[in-house]
Amino acid sequence: MLPEGRPLWPGRVRFRRAMVVLAVASFSAPYSIAQDTPTPNTTGTTSDRNGPIVSTSHPTPRTTPPGPKPSYDSSDCMRLTSLPIAKLQLELDGEDMVLVDQILKATSPDHGHVLFTHAPKEVMWWVRTMGSISIQWLLTAIHETNHAVNSTLTNCNAGEATYSFQGRIIKTEHKSGDTPRYAVLADALPPAFKSRQVGSRYPTYIERNGASPASSFAHLLEELVVYTGAAGVELSIVRSKDYKWLLPREIDAFDGNAGGMVDFMLYAVSYLKAVRISHPDAYARLQQQPNTLSVLQATWTAAEGTLRAIYDYTRLANLGGVLIVSRDALLTTYSDDFLAELDRLGIAHAPAGAWLTTYLRNPQ
Ligand SMILES: [Zn+2]
Repeated sequence: MLPEGRPLWPGRVRFRRAMVVLAVASFSAPYSIAQDTPTPNTTGTTSDRNGPIVSTSHPTPRTTPPGPKPSYDSSDCMRLTSLPIAKLQLELDGEDMVLVDQILKATSPDHGHVLFTHAPKEVMWWVRTMGSISIQWLLTAIHETNHAVNSTLTNCNAGEATYSFQGRIIKTEHKSGDTPRYAVLADALPPAFKSRQVGSRYPTYIERNGASPASSFAHLLEELVVYTGAAGVELSIVRSKDYKWLLPREIDAFDGNAGGMVDFMLYAVSYLKAVRISHPDAYARLQQQPNTLSVLQATWTAAEGTLRAIYDYTRLANLGGVLIVSRDALLTTYSDDFLAELDRLGIAHAPAGAWLTTYLRNPQ
């Protein structure tokens, strides 16, 4: 079971008539501060949404009790770095696990299914803890499994931050402490994004996780990697004909991994600006870490690709869109000021104008 006071859903769930309050907290793994866990059960109102995305019933199998949460040590290093994953034997234990395997294989062979194959017990622990298979909870399982895999890989590499992202294992030269804790991004983040209201990621991630002495750019990048990877799976599911039944019936829209991806794009550029101005030595160290910057580049490029493809399924595009993405966060990220931070580090990105016919149309 989830320890008390620990849950943290990576996004927020918005109901038409009610807002579900989700508790927050974090783990302290050997490496990392940024494990976050979801609230397993939420209850809400029945939706009267009449949008184009309508869930159909599906016989979701009863899930079995989760048992103890998996743990990892150096004996897992070889398995977690094995690619291609086809070489790994996957024992499907239970009807729910067969279904998860089928969904991820069909919707996300290059990311979700890779994580599932590397850490099947971790994915199923999350799914079984939450007790249902839906887009929110399956994606939470993928998000959290990505954290667990990254944390283990980093320990396998003597603390050099390592990420599993879209079928690649990417090792960097960044160690915890190379750059300031990521709460310093508050120096550059515009005040409008420092809300402490329910649903804001700021209090949990920036004020709490980002203030941990163990946090650094690696941990901020970790969240961007994990949210972006899972947002790609979210995209595949929302546009899949076969898996419409995974979409929520009881809620109108939710702020999950796509929403978190955009928030962390803004947090990332804010961090780069704050460190460049106030911590020049650390900024110089970051400039000398090509592998770390290559992870930022790979993630940024993937995030932009997902943003282009996912727009029609967002609330900004139509009332039936189930995904909540912050227009203001995207607008601010693509301001000249913040794009200059990417330019200084040679990170390629889309121009602000790329979103003028979609997300940045019709200011609210
Ligand atoms: Zn996370």
